[in-house]
Formats: sequence, C-alpha cells, structure tokens
Amino acid sequence: MVYLDHNASVPMSASVIEAMVEAARQGGNPSSVHDYGRRARARIEAARKDVATMVGAAASQVVFTSGATEANVMALRACSRDRVFVSATEHVSVLDAHPTAVAIPVDADGVVQPPVVQAALTADRVDAGDAIVSVMLANNETGVIQPIAEIAAMVHAAGALMHCDAVQAPGRLPVDMAALGVDLMTVSAHKAGGPAGVGALILRDASLLRPDTKGGGQEKGLRGGTENITGIAGFGAAAKLAAAFNGADEIARRRDRIEAEVLQEVPDAVVFGSDVPRLPNTSCMAIPGIGAETQVMALDLAGYAVSAGSACSSGKVKTSHVLLAMGADDDVARCAIRISLGPETSDADIDGFITAWIDLIHRLRRSAA
Ligand code: PMP
Repeated sequence: MVYLDHNASVPMSASVIEAMVEAARQGGNPSSVHDYGRRARARIEAARKDVATMVGAAASQVVFTSGATEANVMALRACSRDRVFVSATEHVSVLDAHPTAVAIPVDADGVVQPPVVQAALTADRVDAGDAIVSVMLANNETGVIQPIAEIAAMVHAAGALMHCDAVQAPGRLPVDMAALGVDLMTVSAHKAGGPAGVGALILRDASLLRPDTKGGGQEKGLRGGTENITGIAGFGAAAKLAAAFNGADEIARRRDRIEAEVLQEVPDAVVFGSDVPRLPNTSCMAIPGIGAETQVMALDLAGYAVSAGSACSSGKVKTSHVLLAMGADDDVARCAIRISLGPETSDADIDGFITAWIDLIHRLRRSAA
C-alpha cells in the first residue's frame, strides 16, 4: 500500500516511536518532586524546546494541548475577545470554535485577501481592540498558503489579535512565528510526524489567554491536567525531524508530475489552487463525473491511500466547504480528491499511482457511458 494521505496524519519515524517508548518505560508524573517526576519533567521541557524551535518561538511560549482542535478552541474562546473573524476555508475546529464567528470570504484561488479582512473588520464596526482574526497558514485540503504576515500586519494595525492554525506547515514549509507576526499559533503532532492526541498553542504572550478552568495548574495554569508525557516526547522528536526537513523541491516535483500527467490524459480534470503558492506535498484534483468516494475506494483497492476532502469528518465524505468557498461547482467539488505526499514517497510510488488513477478514471468513465 502506498500512503498518499500525509495531510491526514504523517507516519511516525523510528526515532519518534523510540522517544515515546522511552518516556513510557520511564513513567513518573512531571509534577512529582522525586526523581521519577523530575525526569518526566525534563522530557517535557526538552520537547517543549524542540516544538518551539520548529516554529521559531521560545519554549516559554508553548502550551501543550490534546491536539490542534483543543488549541484552536482555546485560542478563539479563552482570549476574551468578543468578536471573532475566521476565514471561510478554516478547519471545522476553527469554524465551530465560537458561536458568533463571522466568516471572511476567500477568492477563487482560496486566498484570503488582506483588504477583505480589513473590510470585514470595518463593516462590522467593531471596536477592533475587542476582535480576533483566525486565518490558517496552509489549507489542509488544497495546500493553499495564506499571506499571513500581511494579514497579521493589517489586523494589528486595526488593534485586533491574530491567530493562525499552522497545523499543515511544519515538515512541509519552514515556519517562523515571529516573522509571521501572529499572536497565537496552533500546531499538531500527528501532522508533523508525531502521535495523534497532542498539539500545542503557541502564545506571543501568556497573558493573552484567560482560561475558565485551571485544573491542577499545569502549563502555567493555562491548561490543567497531567501532561501527556509519551505523546509530548513523541511530538518533540517529530519536531526535530520536521525542523530539519529540506526536501520541499523534490516533493513538489513529484506532486507536479502527478498533476501534469493526469491533466494530459484527462484534460477536463481540475486542479485547485495551482495558480497560487501551495504546500509542496498537496494536490487537490477533481475528475468531473466520478464521485470522490468512488475514486478513493477504487484507489484503495489498487493499493493507494488518498482522501476525499478533509479526513477529519469521521470517515464521512461531505462536499468540501473549502472548495465551495472557492466558488467551485458542487458537481465538481464532490469529485475532488486530495493527494498528499511525504518525504518517503518515491518516484516509483508516483509512477504507479499515476497509472492506477488514469486506468481507473478511463474504466469508470467507460462503464458510466
Ligand atoms: N487544523 C487543520 C488545518 C487540520 O488539518 C486538522 C486535522 N485535520 C486540525 C486542525 C485538527 O487537528 P487535531 O487532529 O490535532 O485536532
């Protein structure tokens, strides 16, 4: 089976699994004062440093959470801002984080244009000092990269706060939180080669967050509960690998080959976001007339794991809100699949995938004719 679904979860490397096994073997509660506790604490603090380095932040800015969903909800609910603006192509954990969030439209390429953000803040006549804007760094379905630094500068000029869900960037793009100029940033271990169930909210300043519950006071009182030590150890090991990643050109070349060769054989195929900067590993393509679910199942049988829209909806395939927000026809959007490559994806994997996909497109179209 060839795994082409890295935007759902990246397979864990041996060093990540080893770090988790070591942490599990050692045990201990990081809040205990004895030797076991101190060692568990040391592991967490080492991982905190590695996660911070991965995004150009300081260890003191990292708050570990149970994943990106929790971090996104914390960012939008616990920063005590009454007005919340989110881009229309955000992950559902951002879209649904706040009951009165206002959606900011994207253009046909899926890009959030900074003047549109400005217009949304102005139209709402908010006291911008009371607002937070959330725009993702790269889209999980299309890979489209947002002009975060420009948006953040504009948001700050208006006196609002800027949150960025950067989940899909580490291990695919270099990330520098300070250069992006965002106040709060979300990351998730399993999208960067670590385990699922652990993530982080990275804060420019800890005073931005006023959580309702402090629990046992862990994570500087910002996120109570005994830390997920094995998960955090795995996150730290994955963060080191993600920070060292330098294979973007190679991956983009393979991704581009899929698009070019499929378009040559299937000229009515649609590639989303191909005219704007995208993650190097991601392709979102529609084959009109063949439902995404049918393609995903046929490719699975042929030995290739890809996904339809976002994988985060518990196996349910819904028409992608991302593609609809970009103005795609419903009929085309429901025929779109996402192919997301990883550093281990080889040229041979890509050759096989292209052949299998083109074969099945022709076969399914013939049988529908
Ligand atoms: N944001 C984005 C952009 C994502 O792709 C995902 C996962 N699909 C999430 C948030 C949620 O991440 P987690 O599984 O860590 O809660």
